[in-house]
Amino acid sequence: MHSFLIAVIYLILYLISEMNPKKVKKMKYICPQCGSTELYLESGGIMGNIYHCKKCSYVGTFVIEGEEDMVKEIQEGHKVETGKP
Ligand SMILES: [Zn+2]
Repeated sequence: MHSFLIAVIYLILYLISEMNPKKVKKMKYICPQCGSTELYLESGGIMGNIYHCKKCSYVGTFVIEGEEDMVKEIQEGHKVETGKP
């Protein structure tokens, strides 16, 4: 249901990161499911690095790499999502 919204967020974040290649701030790994930054590296393997979210126990190779400002935006986006019926 919300996958489209999430995809749009990813696209926006991608475009922002492409537009500001020189602006290197503190990059954080963000959980694509809940927007939490409490991710830790589970292991590296054939598939690449596997990340584990402490908050929602998401496990996967894909995480959002973003600045601290993006964390807020993503978390706000998740709030909007959950507010819908
Ligand atoms: Zn999570």
